[in-house]
Amino acid sequence: MIRENIAETEEKIAEACKRAGRDRSEVTLIAVSKTKPVEMLREAYDAGARDFGENRVQELMEKMPSMPEDVRWHMIGHLQRNKVKYIVGKVWMIHSVDSLELAEEISKEAVKRQVKVRILLEVNVAEEESKFGVTVQEAVSLAEAVAKLPGIQIEGLMTIAPYVENQEENRIHFRKLKQLSVDIYSKNIDNISMNVLSMGMTGDYSVAVEEGATCVRVGTGIFGERKGMVV
Ligand SMILES: *Cc1c(COP(=O)(O)O)cnc(C)c1O
Repeated sequence: MIRENIAETEEKIAEACKRAGRDRSEVTLIAVSKTKPVEMLREAYDAGARDFGENRVQELMEKMPSMPEDVRWHMIGHLQRNKVKYIVGKVWMIHSVDSLELAEEISKEAVKRQVKVRILLEVNVAEEESKFGVTVQEAVSLAEAVAKLPGIQIEGLMTIAPYVENQEENRIHFRKLKQLSVDIYSKNIDNISMNVLSMGMTGDYSVAVEEGATCVRVGTGIFGERKGMVV
C-alpha cells in the first residue's frame, strides 16, 4: 500500500510541476512518518523514500538507529529549547524555527559540535491562533537576527496552512510565503539563501507545488490515517 501511495503522490507532484513549468527535481517529497512504526518507514524506504519527517524529538531519536544511514531526517514539529541538543548534527534540516531564543540554542549546540545546521523559519502566514510560527511582519527581523548566529544556515521558510476541504483555498497562503521568501532574499542578508520553501501536506501539496514549494510534507497520503489527535 505504501509503495502505491508513494507512486501516486509522485505522479501528482510531477503533474503539478508540469502545470507550473517546473522541473520535478526541484521538489523533495518528505514522507511524514510520525506515529507510524519503523516497519512502515522501512517499506517507504524500500519504495525509494529517503526524506522522512518527524515532529517529536523522542520519537525521532528512537527511529533513527533503526533506519539506514542515508535517510535525511527532517524535524518538522514544534521544538523545545531543551531538546535541541539531541538533534543538532543528526537531522538534515529543522523546519520549525519560530523564535530567536530557539535559534540561539541551536547555534550554541552547533558551535559546540562544530557543525552547520540547516534551518527554516516557520511562518504562520494564515495567522491561525492555534499554530506556531512568526507572522509575515516578524519574519524579516527574525531572519536578520538569526542570520548573525554562528553555526546556522537559513535555507528558507516553512508554513503549515490551515486544514481545508478545497486546497485552492490555501493558494493565497502559499503565494504569500513565496513572496515573503523573495522579499527576504532581495535584502541580500549574509547567510540566508531562501532556496527552500517547505509547504504543502496531504490535502494541499499540488497547489503548494504550483506555487513554488520545494519540499512537500506528506503523511496521511503515504502512510494512511493517524490514530488519535496528533498535530
Ligand atoms: C503531520 C504533519 C504533516 C503531514 O500531514 P498530513 O496531512 O498527514 O500529510 C506535515 N507537516 C507537519 C508540520 C506535520 O506536523
